[in-house]
Amino acid sequence: MRPVLADVYAAAQVIAGVADRTPLVPSPYMSGIAGGEFLLKLENMQPIGAFKLRGALNAVAGAQNAAGVTCCSTGNHGRGVAYAARARGLRAVICMSELVPQAKVDGIRALGAEVRIIGRSQDAAQAEAERLVAEDGLTEISPFDDPLVIAGQGTIGLELMAARPDLETLLIPLSGGGLAAGVALAAKTIKPDLRVIGISMDRGAAMYESLRAGHPVDVEEVPSLADSLGGGIGMANRLSFAMCRDLLDDVVLVTEEEIYRAMQVLYYEDRIVAEGACVVGIAAVLSGKVLPQGPTATIITGRNLDMAMFTRVVTGQDVILGDKVIKGKTYGT
Ligand SMILES: *Cc1c(COP(=O)(O)O)cnc(C)c1O
Repeated sequence: MRPVLADVYAAAQVIAGVADRTPLVPSPYMSGIAGGEFLLKLENMQPIGAFKLRGALNAVAGAQNAAGVTCCSTGNHGRGVAYAARARGLRAVICMSELVPQAKVDGIRALGAEVRIIGRSQDAAQAEAERLVAEDGLTEISPFDDPLVIAGQGTIGLELMAARPDLETLLIPLSGGGLAAGVALAAKTIKPDLRVIGISMDRGAAMYESLRAGHPVDVEEVPSLADSLGGGIGMANRLSFAMCRDLLDDVVLVTEEEIYRAMQVLYYEDRIVAEGACVVGIAAVLSGKVLPQGPTATIITGRNLDMAMFTRVVTGQDVILGDKVIKGKTYGT
C-alpha cells in the first residue's frame, strides 16, 4: 500500500512524455539571502500550470478503468485529472458545487472533462463523486492520499537528486502532504541525510496540526494567499499523514504577510508569476524561520492564480482575506 522508491521510478516511466521534466534554476537574490545556492524547481511550467499533473497521470494510468475517473477538486488536482484523462483517452467527471466560480468551471471543461455541478457545498460535490463510483463504476482519484498520486509527485524528487546530488536542504509546500510524502520518499531514500522541511501557512494548516496531535485533525479553513494549501487531510487518512510524520524533518509555518512579501520577491527578483502556495519556502527563508544549510531547493508548485489578487500584491496594495487585512507594502520600500 505505502509506496516505495521503485514505485516512484515506475511512475517516472508512466508520466514521461506528458508531464515535463521541469527546469531547476538558481535564484541569485535568494542565494544571497540564504548565504549559499538557492534553487527553484519550476513546476509552474507543467502543461496544466502545476505539479499535480504528475500524480494524476500516474493514478489515471493505474485506474485502467474504461468507465473513467472522477474527483471533486476545482483546483489544480481537478485540472490534472482532466488533462491526464484526456491524454489517456479516458472519461473524466469533475464534481463541483454551484458556488464554484464560472472561470474555474470553464477552465476544467476546456481540458476536456465533463463537469457535474451539484448542490451548494463541497460535501454535496463529494457525495456525487462517491455516487459515480458506486453506481457508474468510475474510479475516484484522491488529490493526495493515494499511493499512485504520491509516487507520481515523487518523480520531482528523482529529478532533483539526479540534477543535484549535492542538495542538502529541500523546502516543500505542504497541504494534504501528497507532494511532500512522495518527494521526501524519493529524495531521502536516495540521500538519507537530506533535510526535508514542509512549509504551510499559519492559518488552517491541517497537516501541521495533525502531526502535533499525533493523528488527523480537522481545522477550520480560512482564506489565504496560499489558497492551494487550504483544506483538510481527511480524518481517515491512510498514507500521506504517516509518510509526512516519518519522512519530514520539520514543518514550519509562515504568515500571510510573509507570503505577500515572498510573492513580491519571486516576481521582482526572479520574474516569476506563481501562486502564493509556491512561495512559502522562500517566505520561510526570508523570515529566518528556516536557516538553509548547503545547496537548498524549493518547489515552485503552480501558477494558477487569481490575477486580480496577484496584481494587488505586486503593486503593493492592501489585500483582504475574509476578516484578515494584509497591509500593502510597495516592493523595495
Ligand atoms: C496541491 C498543491 C500543493 C500542496 O500539495 P499537497 O500534496 O496537497 O501537500 C502545493 N502547491 C500547489 C500549487 C498545489 O496545487
